[in-house]
Amino acid sequence: MNTIDADIVDWEKKRINLQKNVSDDLLARYEKIRNRNKGVGVISVWKAVCNGCHMNIPPQLYNELQKSNELLSCPNCSRIIYFQDMEKPA
Ligand SMILES: [Zn+2]
Repeated sequence: MNTIDADIVDWEKKRINLQKNVSDDLLARYEKIRNRNKGVGVISVWKAVCNGCHMNIPPQLYNELQKSNELLSCPNCSRIIYFQDMEKPA
């Protein structure tokens, strides 16, 4: 029984840590975007095209997306976007 208890405690700690990493702000933003966009809040971008709304994103934003670790949003559909290189094997 002791090992099971320890496992549960361990898991609980991990869960709390995960929640700490996601701010309330971000979580609220994500939920809002997700509700507005058929349940998809985060989408990939390739060749400066948002895969959510299939619109071009400005070149400057596209550059920033590839360089920075910041969370950026598509100016058209507001989904949180990330850069994905489709030509590289996963
Ligand atoms: Zn978009």
